[in-house]
Amino acid sequence: MLMTYAIIPAGGIGSRMGLDCPKQYYHLAGIPILIHTLRAFEAAGSIAGVIVVVPEAHVAETKELVAHYGLAKVKQVVVGGVFRQDSVACGLAVVPQDCGFVAVHDGARPLVSPGLIDACVLTAKTSGAAMAAVPVSDTLKEVTSGGRINCTVDRSCLWQAQTPQVVALDLLQQAFALAAEQDFIGTDEASFVELLGHEMMVVSGSETNIKVTRPDDLAIAEALLQGRDEENMTHPVLAVRIGHGYDAHQLVSQRPLVLGGVTIPHHHGLLGHSDADVLTHALCDAILGGLGLGDIGQHFPDSDPVYKGISSLVLLGHVMGFAAQHGYILGNADVTVIAQAPKLAPYWSEMVGNLAITCEVESGQINLKGTTTERMGFAGREEGIAAHAVVTLIASGKIS
Ligand code: MG
Repeated sequence: MLMTYAIIPAGGIGSRMGLDCPKQYYHLAGIPILIHTLRAFEAAGSIAGVIVVVPEAHVAETKELVAHYGLAKVKQVVVGGVFRQDSVACGLAVVPQDCGFVAVHDGARPLVSPGLIDACVLTAKTSGAAMAAVPVSDTLKEVTSGGRINCTVDRSCLWQAQTPQVVALDLLQQAFALAAEQDFIGTDEASFVELLGHEMMVVSGSETNIKVTRPDDLAIAEALLQGRDEENMTHPVLAVRIGHGYDAHQLVSQRPLVLGGVTIPHHHGLLGHSDADVLTHALCDAILGGLGLGDIGQHFPDSDPVYKGISSLVLLGHVMGFAAQHGYILGNADVTVIAQAPKLAPYWSEMVGNLAITCEVESGQINLKGTTTERMGFAGREEGIAAHAVVTLIASGKIS
């Protein structure tokens, strides 16, 4: 199945809005407009990665926001151009060439749902190109420059364009090349596809999928966002969520053995990019799983030198930060470490202390236990150590 990347043009400086920042950074319901938009793409199953295109002066701020909100699908934040199509072209230049489809969506259209994104991608995969649109519902009049009505326009086949607009990568590249050749200025991707003469399908959008363009739109979007359960869009608000994590690392000589943030004297240690603390990794994965945020590798890739040799307690701290942003605290955690040797019992209480401090809970909320495998399997042969973790996450009623 060909993967789909999203390009989110958010390059506007929003001078029309009279705000003290570009509109995409303006907070609605406590969160920047652009982050509302990106969260929908984070939650859309059809999207593999996201490229965000912003003004040069806002690249660093955007990267910080992406990290703060734990948006693992955002792969790059790039500088945009003068017109919308220039910004989309900047995104198109860095999209992986092996992705089959590109979904373009306005950064300032924060109420898009993951379901609509997925529906547009699905339709594009059968027809090459598809976009969200809604049938025009008001009666339309053709009016002269003098303000006199000429006629009533037949609206039966008129639709109002929205985004996402999803197009096969090769088709979109051809369309952009043709537009550049003809100095064509279009206001959406569909107009480029039309220029190429390729058909594009519509997918029924939503009346609430509005673009924040004028000052009045801020109040409307705010009301719609407040009315919607914020977490409902990506993660249904549940009083309790459950997560499970599993990890295993190889035992090698000349590495320290770190479990639960405690360095344990042993002739072998665990191999890994970070400190290879398998217990803490399983716990991180359980919390991420409970939050519906994927896994530890997505958030802290082992290809990133930043995480080389890092204490996994630092990663756990970041993961708890994601939980707070989604309105959850740790209820309890139960972790089982599977190791033939060494004996871990003397270290449990120090490990529990480290984990409880990092997770900001009482020690009684964390249970650690160990088992051997009676010399069976990789753990039994002392080739590695594995850990399972189960957690509950409790809705705290506040989103940080
Ligand atoms: Mg690991």
